[in-house]
Amino acid sequence: MDAVLIDGKAISAQIKDELKEKTQKLKAETQTEITLAVVLVGEDPASQVYVRNKRKACEYIGYRSLAFELPADTTQDCLLNLVKDLNGRDDVDGILVQMPLPSQIDEKKVINAISPAKDVDGFHPMSVGALCIGEPGFVSCTPAGVIQLLKRSGVEIAGKECVIVGRSNIVGKPMAMLMLRENATVTVAHSKTRDLKEVCRRADILIAAIGRHRMITADYVKEGAVVIDVGINRIPETGKLCGDVDFDDVLPHVSAITPVPGGVGPMTIAMLMNNCYEAFIMRRKN
Ligand code: NDP
Repeated sequence: MDAVLIDGKAISAQIKDELKEKTQKLKAETQTEITLAVVLVGEDPASQVYVRNKRKACEYIGYRSLAFELPADTTQDCLLNLVKDLNGRDDVDGILVQMPLPSQIDEKKVINAISPAKDVDGFHPMSVGALCIGEPGFVSCTPAGVIQLLKRSGVEIAGKECVIVGRSNIVGKPMAMLMLRENATVTVAHSKTRDLKEVCRRADILIAAIGRHRMITADYVKEGAVVIDVGINRIPETGKLCGDVDFDDVLPHVSAITPVPGGVGPMTIAMLMNNCYEAFIMRRKN
């Protein structure tokens, strides 16, 4: 059986093009712009790249992006004041504070300070709670992207056994809630799970969000499973990018799989852009 390669680049491009079209219409109708405020504290090179990519995506779709670049020694109060100011601005639809933050700043306090109506990262406890009880709210972008990859690749979710390896607040847990919402039977595995291989081999859909390069080999995978690799790691010897799944080893056994890079990665920004659009619509409805 030839495995389907789930192309995150193509699917994310499709989502961005759909948003671009909707945004053009919206602009023509309302004469207003969707605005994302991006806050970066310090000069972490990886964060700078993420922020640049988010800005580029805004430009492509036609959103206005506001950049707030603060020095690494910014105090918590200063950042909280900025967030408060952005919460109150009527011309700002979404607020994103790039993580990680320098050690003098409590990330939780910052996340909690963002208005849930503008929480386009979906990290606020209100957003997480809404997801758990099936209320409308923003969903963390990476797991939301995985759902889109599955749906747009024609993978049926309802009734399937889904195993998620990883239980972080930004990937594993919201992923489990979303798969449950799609009527999968969900198991969440983690570092204390006994006999992980056997648990993973139950999965019709196996989602790896571990952060360990190429840990998931063929003996974790049931014949014909769909494998989604959220991991973004570097191979220690070469520095090359790789996922949590040993792609070449697993490939002959799966019905569909995401590559790294080019799988889940590009979806995160596409879903962030989608959340910005939703934020604009929701704020004007309420
Ligand atoms: P975390 O480190 O927060 O969580 C990792 C999870 O994996 C934990 O729940 C941990 O278990 C579990 N785990 C670690 N080792 C093992 C093991 N040996 N066996 C079973 N479970 C294990 O990571 P994140 O969720 O933030 O990220 C996971 C991966 O996804 C990373 O590679 C990250 O770079 C990538 N990522 C990719 C994104 C994208 O855009 N594609 C976005 C976000 C993350 P326990 O809870 O017991 O410690």
